[in-house]
Amino acid sequence: MKERGRILVTKNYSRIHLSPPHLGSNERHYVEEAFSTNWIAPVGPLIQTFEKEISRYAGTAGAVALQSGTAALHLALQVLDVGQRDIVFCSTLTFVASANPIIYQGAIPVFIDSEPDSWNMSPAALQRAFGHFEHKGHLPKAVIIVNLYGQSADMDPLLAICNKYGVPVIEDAAESLGATYKGKASGTFGKLGVFSFNGNKIITTSGGGALVSDDCELLDRARFLATQARDPAVHYEHRHMGYNYRLSNVLAAIGVGQLEVLEERIQARRMVFDRYLKALSSVQGIEFMPEAPYGRSTRWLTALTVNISWTSLKPMQIIESLAEIDIESRPVWKPMHLQPLYKDYDYYPHSIDESVSDRLFASGLCLPSGSSLSEEDQLRVIDRLNSIFNRLS
Ligand SMILES: *Cc1c(COP(=O)(O)O)cnc(C)c1O
Repeated sequence: MKERGRILVTKNYSRIHLSPPHLGSNERHYVEEAFSTNWIAPVGPLIQTFEKEISRYAGTAGAVALQSGTAALHLALQVLDVGQRDIVFCSTLTFVASANPIIYQGAIPVFIDSEPDSWNMSPAALQRAFGHFEHKGHLPKAVIIVNLYGQSADMDPLLAICNKYGVPVIEDAAESLGATYKGKASGTFGKLGVFSFNGNKIITTSGGGALVSDDCELLDRARFLATQARDPAVHYEHRHMGYNYRLSNVLAAIGVGQLEVLEERIQARRMVFDRYLKALSSVQGIEFMPEAPYGRSTRWLTALTVNISWTSLKPMQIIESLAEIDIESRPVWKPMHLQPLYKDYDYYPHSIDESVSDRLFASGLCLPSGSSLSEEDQLRVIDRLNSIFNRLS
C-alpha cells in the first residue's frame, strides 16, 4: 500500500496575533474518543455532553450547540417569530454578525448607541428609541443586546425598559462567555443568550456557537429548525423550512475540552490586561476600557482609547506601527450605523448631541490579548507602544 504523506503547514512563530486559539491538554483526547467510536456524524454523544456542560456553566435550563454564533442569533430571531417588516433594536457598536440575522429574516434593524461606562448599550438611547417607536405604533419584536470585549452590558436598566414594553431580549454574549453581571453568568439575562466558539473567541471549537435559555420549548424549537425541521417520519416529512445549523460531534469534542480550561483562559486574559495597565499607566493620553463595578469582565480583548486632547496620535497610526514589527492589533468595531450595509437604518445616539460609539471607533484600538501570549511577546508590544508614544506625542 502506498503511504500517504501528510501536508505540513509551516508556521511563522514570530507574529503576535490578536486572539489566537489556545487548546488545552484534553481536547485531543475527546476528539480521539469521537474517532474511535466512529461518532464523526451524524450527531453523537459529545454534543449532548457539550450542551450539558454549557448549560451547567451558564446556569440555564438548557443549551443547543450550533455551527456558529451567527446561526444561534438567526435561530433566536426565528423562535421569537421575528419576520418580514418587524423592527429589531440592536447595539450599534458590535461585529456585523450581531445584525445580519435581522436582515436574513427580512426584519428591520434599528441601531442603539453605547454608554461611556461599559461601552455597551445605552439605556438612555434605548428609552428614546422605545418612546419614538411606541409613538409610531410599531414596537420592536426583539432587542439584541451585545456584551463587548468580555464585559456585560448594564442589564438591570436595559431589561427594565424592555420589560416595560413587553419586548424579549436576545443577549449576544459571543464575546462575554465567562463574564458575570451581579454574580450571574453573562448570556443568561435575555429570553435567549448566544455564545460563539469561533477561532478568535475566549474558547473555541474552531467554529461553533450555542443558544442558551431557561425556556426549553424555545430551545427544542431551535434544535428542530437547526436539523432541517424534520417531522417524525421515516420518509422525511416537512411542514417548516429549517436549516443545517447543528454542531458536529467532532467539534463538540473540542468544546468539551475547552470548557474545562475556560476559567484558566479568563484568568490569563485578565493578567494580560493587568500587565498592559501596569506598563502603560504612565503614558499620558491612553485610557483603558473601564471595567464596570457591577461584574467581572473576562478582558477577552484589551481595548483602549487614545485621548485626542493629550496626543495627536490616531489609532490607525498605532496599528500600522505595530504591524511593521508583525504585531496584530485592530480598531474598535466600526459601528453598524456607519457601515455602508446599514447606513440607511435608524440610529439612536446616547444623547442628542453625543454619539459614544462614533467616539470609541475614532479613538479606540484592541491589543494582542490571547491567553497564550507570553510575557516576552507582550513586552515586545509594550516596548513598541512606549516608543510610539514617546516619539510622536
Ligand atoms: C464573533 C461574534 C459573533 C458571531 O459568532 P460566530 O461564531 O463567528 O458566527 C456575533 N456577535 C459578536 C459580538 C461576535 O463578536
